[in-house]
Amino acid sequence: MVDVQQHDVVIGIDLGGTKALAGAVGADNAIIGQAKISTRKKRDPETLLAAVAACARSAVENAGVPFASVQAVGIGVPGPIDPETGTVGNAPNLGWLNVPVKAILERELGLPVAVGNDVRVATLGEHRLGAGQGKSRVVTFFVGTGIGGGLVVDGKLYAGAHNAAGEIGHTFVAPGGPRCGAGHSGCLEAMASRTAIQRDILNAVKQGKKTALTHIVAGDLANMKSSDLAEALAQDDKVTKRVLKRAAEYLGYGLASAVNLLDPDIIILGGGVVEALGETFINWAIKVARPNYICEAARDTPIVGAALGDDAGMLGAALLAREGTTGDGASGR
Ligand SMILES: [Zn+2]
Repeated sequence: MVDVQQHDVVIGIDLGGTKALAGAVGADNAIIGQAKISTRKKRDPETLLAAVAACARSAVENAGVPFASVQAVGIGVPGPIDPETGTVGNAPNLGWLNVPVKAILERELGLPVAVGNDVRVATLGEHRLGAGQGKSRVVTFFVGTGIGGGLVVDGKLYAGAHNAAGEIGHTFVAPGGPRCGAGHSGCLEAMASRTAIQRDILNAVKQGKKTALTHIVAGDLANMKSSDLAEALAQDDKVTKRVLKRAAEYLGYGLASAVNLLDPDIIILGGGVVEALGETFINWAIKVARPNYICEAARDTPIVGAALGDDAGMLGAALLAREGTTGDGASGR
């Protein structure tokens, strides 16, 4: 028998450039079943979204509830979302351009689908269910392949005039420096993302510096993961430590700018780099940030690691599903 509680299930999906996670989530926001697929192999949108839909069905099956008990679906997608249509614009991590994600998934699953930007959906998750609970002004930084961010203002996810607010990764910390994927010279992403860290380590190696990473990644320095960086740091590898400290320094400038601009209650740091390097990396960044606050009292602003880890996107997407909106207006309802 299916009890009443089980009738209030939604599906949250976190679609990224390496994997898609789907979770069946109950009324108390607990994940009751989940499933995962790899998205590394680039596929056309119809094929990939059909696989994502199958993954969502598996998550419900793993939860042991009938698919008929699912009320709605939410999904975070790495790109700008048109909140009216649930269409994603340019999503380079997926190799997509203008894909009607909402329309395709609604057809595949026969349920209402709400679509949001992945980082903002994860911000919603951290705000409501993670490290930002009870705070009305929250800034997030997610440091991975790139650097994304989100803003919560007055308890609501802040979308901006063009649904594009929160791009903290593309604020400028070192004009004249190397370029990010979008072509900006010296933006935070170009200085402190995993891509930037990898570039700086490769440059050091080219200059003849020795690093434990060469051994850790078995010579494949072009494919180092955040966990490899953590291992090199644990071995007190000099090249890795110097490059990571520099990345953390730039992140610190980004944090100080966020504090000075927004005076938030809390800043939450997540993403693969922060997850792997933890407190050490966060504390390096804080040390650089604090002396640069204009407001004396802001020195106590908590800057903490994300609480939901890999589940933030999935849980945020489930909230999006439950609150029934089509985009980054996530918040208001
Ligand atoms: Zn940039």
